[in-house]
Amino acid sequence: MSQAATISNQTKRWQEMDAAHHIHPFTTHKDLAQSGARVITKAKGVYLYDSEGKRLIDGMAGLWCVQVGYGREELAEAGYKALKELPYYNTFFQTTHPYVAELSQKLADVTPKGIERFFFANSGSEGNDSAIKIIRYFWNLQGKPDKKIIIARNKAYHGVTLGAASLSGLTSMHPQADLPLPGFVHIACPYWYGEGGDMTPEAFGLKTAKALEEKILELGADNVAAFVAEPIQGAGGLIFPPKGYWAEIQAICKKYDVLLHLDEVICGFGRTGNWFGADTLGIEPDMMNMAKGLSSGYQPIAAVGLGKRVGDVIFNSDQEWSHGFTYSGHPVAAAVALANIELIQKEKLVEKAGGEIGAHFQKRLAELNDHPLVGETRGVGLLGAIELVKNKKTRERFAEDMNVGMQCRIHCFANGLVMRAIGDTMVLSPPLVVSISEIDEIFDLARRCIDLTARDLGIS
Ligand SMILES: *Cc1c(COP(=O)(O)O)cnc(C)c1O
Repeated sequence: MSQAATISNQTKRWQEMDAAHHIHPFTTHKDLAQSGARVITKAKGVYLYDSEGKRLIDGMAGLWCVQVGYGREELAEAGYKALKELPYYNTFFQTTHPYVAELSQKLADVTPKGIERFFFANSGSEGNDSAIKIIRYFWNLQGKPDKKIIIARNKAYHGVTLGAASLSGLTSMHPQADLPLPGFVHIACPYWYGEGGDMTPEAFGLKTAKALEEKILELGADNVAAFVAEPIQGAGGLIFPPKGYWAEIQAICKKYDVLLHLDEVICGFGRTGNWFGADTLGIEPDMMNMAKGLSSGYQPIAAVGLGKRVGDVIFNSDQEWSHGFTYSGHPVAAAVALANIELIQKEKLVEKAGGEIGAHFQKRLAELNDHPLVGETRGVGLLGAIELVKNKKTRERFAEDMNVGMQCRIHCFANGLVMRAIGDTMVLSPPLVVSISEIDEIFDLARRCIDLTARDLGIS
């Protein structure tokens, strides 16, 4: 969007440097060069401030990650202490340090029962690529080298590295890099509102779960290594599985001896009102990936957690595991992640997201259902989605090129709210420290911006 005409020379200088030399993720650079990047200079609590002094309430916790809010001294202190004592050492070649040992113990305490060993990476994408290598290595050690195909879902988001992007089912990510790689297959996702037609949500959920069994039978169970999925799909548009979906998926994985790798990068660390999406949805994964809320985004760190079955096979092998990053278990990142989890525990943020704070958020979200532009709202804990539609009854969407969601997002930015648009699905995922009055501010602004969008469309 274009900025106000009168912006400071300092902001202009940053925008010029940025436009000339900075390659942005997921950005059309031609458009950005015209509008000039918004420069965010500081943040505190649930608020962001740009270089022109404008305040925004962050309804997205950055990129779904800032669980404890911005500007927390506890995390800054933990990072500073580690930087002074041990700014770097690696965990290769039979070496460790207190920060990564203590973080591993802490993760064993908070992750679902059975997940007990952790490998560290620097991003959710690296976590998933590491998980793919673990899955392949596991089946090789088991003497089943043909069991290699990984099944994921349409609209899944698992990251951008070659493996993670191949897992991802957002097809716009694929052609530029000739993806997916061989050995990655996608099935339907349980997006009832968009694709469920006349079926009930439960029947549609069951049908999309059965699609996993159909695909396994088509490929041959002896060729299928794993099913990879987010408990609730995030960047694909906040897709909540209907009741019964996960029970069916788990039964199918068991029946055909297909590993279940859960991508908890968004759902983890309290987002859904429990520590993990697995807890909220009753899932028992063989292995899982964590990032984002693991450090509240204060440091780049990810963790792949392994259950006993996969972990034992790899840990009992005589082979060296030929994988690991220079910064796996980086002391500063590990120290900050540990302080973050301790803060989440001390402030009972998981209990709040599953209790009165989450309940108030869901109440305010559901109130938007009376709006003529809103076809459905859905959410759990501190996650919420709002479907903007042409026809509430028939669930008919606006034409894609009308960019209704983007229009709404632009109104949000102009009015001081960060709310993301995924197509015409508006999504919210605020910091877990959000207060009742800040939730009210978010939804008052959201309604105003949906009103403005409706006005643009001539609907009221
Ligand atoms: C963000 C995300 C990733 C990728 O994490 P990066 O740190 O951006 O590499 C993977 N999986 C899910 C579910 C995500 O939301």
